[in-house]
Amino acid sequence: MWELTFPRTVVIGEDALSYLKTIEGKRALIVTDKVIHKLDFMAKVSDYLKEAGLVARVFDDVEPEPSVETIEKGAEFAKEYGPDWFIAVGGGSCMDAAKAMWVLYENPSVAVGAISPLSKLGLRKKARLICIPTTSGTGSDATWVTVITNVDEKRKMDLASREIVSDISILDPELPKGMSSKLAAGTGLDALAHGIEGYVSQWRNDFSDALAIGAIQMVFKYLPRAYKSPEDKEAKEKMHNAATMAGMSFGNSNAGVAHSLGHSLGAIFHIPHGRSVSLFLPISIEYDAEQAHERYANIAREIGIKAQSDEEALGKLVEAVRKLIHEVGEPTTLKEAGITRKDLEARLDDLAERVGSSNTSFANPRVPDTEESKKLFMYAYDGKKVDF
Ligand SMILES: [Zn+2]
Repeated sequence: MWELTFPRTVVIGEDALSYLKTIEGKRALIVTDKVIHKLDFMAKVSDYLKEAGLVARVFDDVEPEPSVETIEKGAEFAKEYGPDWFIAVGGGSCMDAAKAMWVLYENPSVAVGAISPLSKLGLRKKARLICIPTTSGTGSDATWVTVITNVDEKRKMDLASREIVSDISILDPELPKGMSSKLAAGTGLDALAHGIEGYVSQWRNDFSDALAIGAIQMVFKYLPRAYKSPEDKEAKEKMHNAATMAGMSFGNSNAGVAHSLGHSLGAIFHIPHGRSVSLFLPISIEYDAEQAHERYANIAREIGIKAQSDEEALGKLVEAVRKLIHEVGEPTTLKEAGITRKDLEARLDDLAERVGSSNTSFANPRVPDTEESKKLFMYAYDGKKVDF
């Protein structure tokens, strides 16, 4: 038996934001960051909520990679205000923060780190969740994952509960238009990683497969366009939808070792999520080659790669992923990303230890031990091939 979880409602297409006019409730708490709070469309959000008869307040203190402290602060704010809707507007950080704040608001006895698929949270007695992504990559609007940083331990906690999947996801193609090319690249590559890792996960299923392949095809087709021409409306809209499709895929299978390695690197060297994951995406495919060559060969064929054997297809897929990463101006080695060998070696034990304990490692086709993780970090450093 395998249980699949999706948002109850996904609103897509032009003017999707105006769906807010139709929601029923009294008080909305908008969870966002200071940059987004100043953007023009936020006035529309307020107007639509007013039209629906709701009052709204804004919590705009969410930082990139939100901390436990921020979640607790937001939950306090919510307890005083008493919202019946949490409305997350922003990238993965804002959506993840809103999910965790909502848990603490409904269930004050739960600590952030205790959010787990095994604990009953009893959500939706006080409020429900709407996610409105403004970037196209994290898929957080569709997943039951929230990544919160424990600042003292420099550790990213990937927490999960089926109860925190949004009730409504609103994918308005106007919102990602304002993204810089750099942000479009980093978040778009994150979506690619979600699709690829969701497709090869040991927990994959027919539903996650179909959504993964659809998302991967769309990223290869539209990400270069969205990167090169920020005004390309079609490319931006397709990437926005692909991100949520990839989220639905890995949310119902799992992410893999590119995410484990990326979370570990990102927490220590403060590298944004999309970049830190995509740095490991090509080598994670090579690492899994023996266990999952058929799956990777399928992906290769679905994006139009011609090959005589699975091995050849897998090799060409690795090349295609590296080419795409370069095409959108992102680094393919840690060295290119500005990390020195000295700094990497100094933190290698710590980095490798975190990979083994990551929630995204254990359903990967192959699960790295500490020594293998070290090799993967060194391989990622300068691209000089190692034997795994
Ligand atoms: Zn990700």
